[in-house]
Amino acid sequence: MIQSHAPKLVILGPQGAGKGTQGQRLSKHLDLDHISTGDLLRSAVADQTVIGKEAKAHMDAGELVPDDIMVRLVAQRLEEPATVRRGFLLDGYPRNITQARALEALRGDDGLDAVIVLRLPIEFVYRRLASRRVCPNCQTVLTAVGGEAEMRCPVCSGTAIARSDDTPEAIARRLELYERETEPLIDHYAERGLLVEVDGRGSPETVFEHILRGLRPMIWGTSEAVG
Ligand code: AMP
Repeated sequence: MIQSHAPKLVILGPQGAGKGTQGQRLSKHLDLDHISTGDLLRSAVADQTVIGKEAKAHMDAGELVPDDIMVRLVAQRLEEPATVRRGFLLDGYPRNITQARALEALRGDDGLDAVIVLRLPIEFVYRRLASRRVCPNCQTVLTAVGGEAEMRCPVCSGTAIARSDDTPEAIARRLELYERETEPLIDHYAERGLLVEVDGRGSPETVFEHILRGLRPMIWGTSEAVG
């Protein structure tokens, strides 16, 4: 694959829209550092770090972790030499206009090449989140079609369960916050000519193809080279 520079991307969308799946796939495809702020926070919680202890209650309630913590966490990661060299895909950040402005302050106006938005009706993601089960060992995501509380992980035979923030109250709160705090970022990035909007309802393969198609002119300026 020919790459003229290290791409700098953001993926936005409501929780449960498939950001994690598409983010991992895209990062692998383009050899980018996949920075999921949700994953960074969950490992800080598991390791009981200072940030983890501060973040846990906010996360379990479906609230946003305070901006100053998030800005520091992301700033540190973006400075890592491997991230600078490879480029990155930010997944879960920015969540509001304050975080977007902090990113601009950190990286300057041309700090991003494209912002992918996965569009999905809110009722659709609500159903997906309510039936989501995650394996605590290998993070495989499964769907409990019949609403079962536990599922056997086909990858590592672990027991997949609902995330601690996938309670009905926390899901409703997160989706409300997405509409109020995160959706305005779509206009913010559209004004800067960075937006790649993709319908998130197709199969993972179809959504991925649409993302690549939308990215080609944004990153490479032609339809070649993205693969
Ligand atoms: P996610 O895995 O992206 O669904 O994030 C899980 C939780 O982590 C969110 O509900 C928030 O509590 C917290 N979180 C993740 N990213 C951010 C962020 N950029 N700003 C504030 N809180 C965040």
